Amino acid sequence: MIAWLGVLAISIVLRVVLEAQEFPYLVAVAPYMLISFATPVAILVGTLRHRPPHRAGWFLLVAAQVFYAAADTVTVVDELFSGEFLEPTPADLLYFAYYLLIAAAVLLFIRRRSPGWDIPSMIDALIVAVSAGLITWVFVLQPLTSDSELPLNAKLTQSAYPVLDLMLLILAVRLAMGTGTRGTVLYLLLGSLVLMLSVDTVYLVQNILDGGGVSEAYLDAIWMASLGLLGAAALHRGVRTFDLRSEHVVLDASPARLAVLAVAVLMAPGVQALVWLLDWPLNIPLISGSCAVMFGLVMTRMAGLVAVQRRAAVTDALTGLRTRRYFTDALSLECRRAGRTGHGVGLLVIDVDHFKRINDGYGHPAGDQVLREVSHRLAAATRAGAVVARYGGEEFVVLAPHTGPEDLLALAERLRSAVADLPIAVDDELLGVTVSIGAAAETHPEPDALLRTADEALYAAKAAGRNRSVLVTPSPTATAA
Ligand code: GH3
Ligand code: MG
Ligand code: MG
Repeated sequence: MIAWLGVLAISIVLRVVLEAQEFPYLVAVAPYMLISFATPVAILVGTLRHRPPHRAGWFLLVAAQVFYAAADTVTVVDELFSGEFLEPTPADLLYFAYYLLIAAAVLLFIRRRSPGWDIPSMIDALIVAVSAGLITWVFVLQPLTSDSELPLNAKLTQSAYPVLDLMLLILAVRLAMGTGTRGTVLYLLLGSLVLMLSVDTVYLVQNILDGGGVSEAYLDAIWMASLGLLGAAALHRGVRTFDLRSEHVVLDASPARLAVLAVAVLMAPGVQALVWLLDWPLNIPLISGSCAVMFGLVMTRMAGLVAVQRRAAVTDALTGLRTRRYFTDALSLECRRAGRTGHGVGLLVIDVDHFKRINDGYGHPAGDQVLREVSHRLAAATRAGAVVARYGGEEFVVLAPHTGPEDLLALAERLRSAVADLPIAVDDELLGVTVSIGAAAETHPEPDALLRTADEALYAAKAAGRNRSVLVTPSPTATAA
């Protein structure tokens, strides 16, 4: 990769110097053509050498660069004989194929790196896409298509470039904002795309302003840098892990991401204001439509973020059970309901027996593993409609609505044996783990009193020797099982 970057740097300098020294066209353009032809070879060598697990994307890039080199050759030959082709010229068609193949490769990388569809990143990319699309339409496509002197085939050909650029921009944003390993290969690839889109933008702006400001040699130099970074990406050993699928979708919105989205969202009203200041004709349906779409996308994204936060607030991170907070809310709601209808509410408080010994003997991580397995068994043995929550440490609660004392005690026994009957594997050892359960059932319950009663029952179960269920009913007689 270092050697490749060295060749690249020398070629870029040569390209600019040869042009400045007014060498003949063929000589001046030679370093550019060298990089153009060498890039597919560099990508192929990198891919074959590092053997990334999925090579299809990189082979697509090789194919893209072969088309690109062919297009460059046709352009140079064209330039030499100053042949006049009807648009789209053979070079145009080859360049189009190049863009489409690059897009296909980037799309493949995105799919490989993302778990599922990664909807949040997709919405973010769509927001940027709508904003970039609006700018492209207002400042590039609209002037181009309404140019009465341009024949239709030229209009279509010249419009195709910004449309293809827009497609690549959206994919680049999606790649940058999506999940996956962040490393040299990603940054080289994104750098290559950014440079390529910048040259195209300079071309477009020059076309609109009807004049060349930047010399051809400098634009060639930027193109060479773009190609070079692509080659360097394939030659870097990071390609082996580049398209590993990431486990989690990025659900959060970092400040940088929010800043990008804010700029994108403000683009529609910004463009509106600029067009008005320039005294151009206002396209109200277009701008209003864009604003409406943006608003819809932002609301969807916000709903997603709120849902994620809500889920986090009610889900215990270690065990996946409900949190104490969720349980407390559910308990008071259920007690109020029971007060109105008179049906019974059952409550179990479950504590792991001698849990300190597991922590002390096998370590805290092993203790955590036991907690996860116990939670899993409790949840699996409880019927739907009951709330199973981690109350704290190694204490769990089960809220069972519409449950009388007998059914509750039966449930407690089922849970107790679900834990006790099968040992739990920890570090190649089988541990016998048991729980003690305190149960309380009432028809007109009050949350704190119900909890206190169940706690007393748990204390009685511990005192009676552990690995048992004790039910305390409103009548002072306690039943043990
Ligand atoms: P008993 O039968 O009387 O309940 O005995 P015990 O050893 O289980 O006693 P106690 O219920 O007081 O033990 C609580 C222990 O649980 C103390 C604490 O170190 C441990 N613990 C609390 N939360 C966690 C956790 O999230 N992970 C792990 N590994 N240990 C925890
Ligand atoms: Mg405890
Ligand atoms: Mg305990």
